[in-house]
Amino acid sequence: MSRVQQVTVLGATGSIGLSTLDVIARHPDRYQVFALSGFSRLKELFALCVRHTPRFAVVPQAAIARDLQDELRAAGLRTEVLVGEEGLCQVAADPEVDAVMAAIVGAAGLRPTLAAVHAGKKILLANKEALVMSGALFMQAVRKSGSLLLPVDSEHNAIFQCMPGDFARGLGQVGVRRILLTASGGPFLHTPLSELEHVSPEQACAHPNWSMGRKISVDSASMMNKGLELIEACWLFDAKPAQVEVVIHPQSVIHSLVDYIDGSVLAQLGNPDMRTPIANALSWPQRIDSGVAPLDLFAIARLDFQAPDEQRFPCLRLARQAAEAGASAPATLNAANEVAVAAFLEGRIRYPEIASIIEEVLNREPVVAVDELDAVFSADARARELTGQWLKRHGR
Ligand code: NAD
Ligand code: MG
Repeated sequence: MSRVQQVTVLGATGSIGLSTLDVIARHPDRYQVFALSGFSRLKELFALCVRHTPRFAVVPQAAIARDLQDELRAAGLRTEVLVGEEGLCQVAADPEVDAVMAAIVGAAGLRPTLAAVHAGKKILLANKEALVMSGALFMQAVRKSGSLLLPVDSEHNAIFQCMPGDFARGLGQVGVRRILLTASGGPFLHTPLSELEHVSPEQACAHPNWSMGRKISVDSASMMNKGLELIEACWLFDAKPAQVEVVIHPQSVIHSLVDYIDGSVLAQLGNPDMRTPIANALSWPQRIDSGVAPLDLFAIARLDFQAPDEQRFPCLRLARQAAEAGASAPATLNAANEVAVAAFLEGRIRYPEIASIIEEVLNREPVVAVDELDAVFSADARARELTGQWLKRHGR
């Protein structure tokens, strides 16, 4: 077997980061942790360093880095602590690294993920916001560096598994008609519309099938997550937005499907546990044990499907609109959503206002070409500014 692979885990203290480390720890003969990053749960980051003895750890500020460095030395560890975005980019691009798990949430993950792409690494992509913001530039960079891009988002990993190996020739060329992107419908699938006004962040984060970070949990409740995933699918599989259909499937057992012109529809099924797509991406094209229990179809008994209701899930419509507009629109959508979701989680706005804010920002902000990363970040900054103005105007 080949040598042990060095893996950098960006966002190690998060839900995806921890699941990744769980899979890695099952295969010490195959994978070694090269670097870990954390942003807020620093006690946990220390414990992860003790457990996985990485060469580097990355934290947001110099003062935090000094403290962690002292603690690590006192514990007899040789892990070196780096700081900020520069540190993240360094451990993403280090010549010794084979694979980078991109699991920072939101726009903050874009530069470090791109650093890994430019360095030609194997990218295990969980950070969908990075691709949503800068899709064209991101995919161009992947092609240029020859880096291997493997989707970790469960739906995209499922689609990847159901696609023929040569799908990069073009969906039409390989006989793919449509991508069917499944969605659980989240915690508010059956909540009366009039009650959505009063739902709390805790209710929004109580996902029926998946345990995830708070931002993606709210995105799942609003189905903005599915909207971001629609855009993500268009870039990963070179599909038009009209070729991606969203299907609500409340059991989250089918993780997505590919519809071929001969009428065959291939699906990937599994328990809703992110260790499956993580293990799949880590070991591709081989397969390794992920620790996930075998699927018990008799216990599941039935699989249901329904069309999404746009009145209940306006964010899905807004994301499709941004996908069709292209250029800077997805970056605008993503930034407005990040700020609005943070405001909702802080109790400053009501749940339905997330969609109202995003709609207003999308309508006010012109769609401009994004030929350079700077243009992506200016669209992101303008959308954050406009969202901030909305909050101020409404006294939040
Ligand atoms: P999380 O909130 O649990 O973890 C986020 C990680 O990013 C943490 O390690 C945190 O310290 C770090 N982080 C947060 N802000 C940062 C910043 N400004 N700079 C640097 N690091 C920062 O989130 P998660 O659920 O693990 O999701 C991570 C990414 O994976 C998201 O993009 C999400 O959309 C995607 N994803 C998650 C799941 C899931 O099941 N959790 C599934 C599919 C895709
Ligand atoms: Mg997903």
